[in-house]
Amino acid sequence: MKVTWDENICIHSAKCVKNLPSVFTKQDGKFVIIQDGAPEDQIRKVVKECPSAALKIEE
Ligand code: SF4
Repeated sequence: MKVTWDENICIHSAKCVKNLPSVFTKQDGKFVIIQDGAPEDQIRKVVKECPSAALKIEE
């Protein structure tokens, strides 16, 4: 499983960063996804809740 992020679609609600900061975070001012930063089910939940669908799961 891999999470992808489309910055052209993201509306910067910061929901992902707030809800799961161990995976969705900023490093050196850039948005990064730490793919193994949390259990899969938690990551899937946050991806589903992204309001713009900028986050997607690749199996
Ligand atoms: S939850 Fe979705 S729209 Fe909000 S910051 Fe994260 S990727 Fe962007």
